[in-house]
Amino acid sequence: MSIRETKTDVILIGAGIMSATLGTLLKELVPEWKITMFEKLANSGEESSNEWNNAGTGHAALCELNYTVEKPDGTVDISKAININEQFQVSMQFWSYLVNKKLIHNPQDFIMPLPHMSLVQGEQNVAFLKKRFEALSNNPLFQGMEFSDEPEKLMEWIPLIMQDRASNEPIAATKIDSGTDVNFGALTRMLFEHLESKNVDINYNHSVNDIKRTSDGLWELKVRNSDNGTVERQTAKFVFIGGGGGSIHLLQKSGIPEGKHIGGFPVSGIFMVCNNPEVVEQHHAKVYGKAKVGAPPMSVPHLDTRFIDNKKSLLFGPFAGFTPKFLKYGSMFDLITSVKPDNLLTMLSAGAKNMSLTKYLIQQVMLSKEQRMEELREFIPNANIEDWDLVVAGQRVQVIKDTEAGGKGTLQFGTEVITAADGSIAALLGASPGASTAVHVMLEVINKCFPQHMKEWEPKIKEMIQSYGDTLMENPELLHEIHTSTAQTLGLGKKKEPVFS
Ligand SMILES: Cc1cc2nc3c(=O)[nH]c(=O)nc-3n(C[C@H](O)[C@H](O)[C@H](O)COP(=O)(O)OP(=O)(O)OC[C@H]3O[C@@H](n4cnc5c(N)ncnc54)[C@H](O)[C@@H]3O)c2cc1C
Repeated sequence: MSIRETKTDVILIGAGIMSATLGTLLKELVPEWKITMFEKLANSGEESSNEWNNAGTGHAALCELNYTVEKPDGTVDISKAININEQFQVSMQFWSYLVNKKLIHNPQDFIMPLPHMSLVQGEQNVAFLKKRFEALSNNPLFQGMEFSDEPEKLMEWIPLIMQDRASNEPIAATKIDSGTDVNFGALTRMLFEHLESKNVDINYNHSVNDIKRTSDGLWELKVRNSDNGTVERQTAKFVFIGGGGGSIHLLQKSGIPEGKHIGGFPVSGIFMVCNNPEVVEQHHAKVYGKAKVGAPPMSVPHLDTRFIDNKKSLLFGPFAGFTPKFLKYGSMFDLITSVKPDNLLTMLSAGAKNMSLTKYLIQQVMLSKEQRMEELREFIPNANIEDWDLVVAGQRVQVIKDTEAGGKGTLQFGTEVITAADGSIAALLGASPGASTAVHVMLEVINKCFPQHMKEWEPKIKEMIQSYGDTLMENPELLHEIHTSTAQTLGLGKKKEPVFS
């Protein structure tokens, strides 16, 4: 076995949307830095970022009910929704910058306009949706949102969902036309093609097996090339662990104290897909419902129009599932090997606290196709089993850590950026809201890891993301300007139906 040794400025581990975004940002900020990327699979965007492994929702909190909670006094807290929307505007501006600069092309290949809707049934839920609508529609970020509890109007908006509906329960929906369907797989591939053209050293079929600190403060990675079986040693001043579900193991290998007492719990996703053009043509929206009692927030059911490979299809789900793998193409030993002496107590506490989640996941795994169809029929009353197939999506590894509010072993549903005190290594854990907020999250990595450069880099960041440092909600004129320009650049303003089959 031969050993090759190389030095570089930055190493990106993993070819998902996060590494793609960080690499692209850094290439714009410091083109002279040498960047090397290692991905264990044969291509980019094959794990969670792949178009079939996530729901492709451009999460801007336009329709996801779990981002707005009802407070004990009956008012609706929209602070999380505002945060997520602001973060999505950051992504939209960066993608527009890349298109305007001709660094990526054909935005319709990765982003399409699509109304985002929330749909609820039952008196209490309708009352909640109305309050939520009132709270959001007063905010400039959510301008254009409509509410209706009139069946005729709903029939116009969502005919597939409304026709043959037997229930007499009150029903209501909100609709906003500025929503999007994002093909994060296509975007990831475009960004890596761009990075390759900028001389980033892209290495597929290269698995990072170990990370350790060298005596001179650099990071040394042991990388296995599965094409020829060789092991390479690569050193870098800065390492980004963008391994998706694989990040926890790599963080543990780095040995940094910030990575201790953290564990992960995998929740897999299963969708149902419909390619029957007669059915597909009757729906044009992402329609999010309410999560069932006991279901984790990422299991909110939704019926989405998707645009993948120049084809329109419908996606329903996700159903949750359980496998001990941390990556779709991971190992059955992932969960067990992630338990270390420092996180054992954290993991055990999480296990004891989350019996109801475990029970829920087991129930979900056991569902037959007919039982899944029953859930789908809550959306499409006359759904035909022959029109729908199951697709296994990606793995979400939820972070488990000790928190002040939740105590030992608290399950987190958001994303976490973990960095070493000296900023020389960073890892991204967790998966929600996920790919939609990749640009915001990678700017957080840059902020935490390169504070000494921020002053010098700020003008360039502002050129890429006009609103950087501003709160758009408090600056409606800038928001309007950005909405108009990003919609134009990304082709989102057009109302015409795409000509996909
Ligand atoms: C079911 C589901 C639905 C989702 N829906 C949405 C949605 O609608 N909207 C949204 O914005 N987000 C959504 N997400 C979240 C989103 O998909 C993720 O947040 C995002 O794709 C994560 O990107 P990443 O780059 O961190 O990881 P990934 O895309 O998983 O990439 C990580 C890469 O690292 C590689 N890797 C791992 N370990 C190693 C190693 N040791 N050496 C070399 N390479 C390694 C992997 O092979 C992989 O290619 C969803 C996720 C799931 C699972």
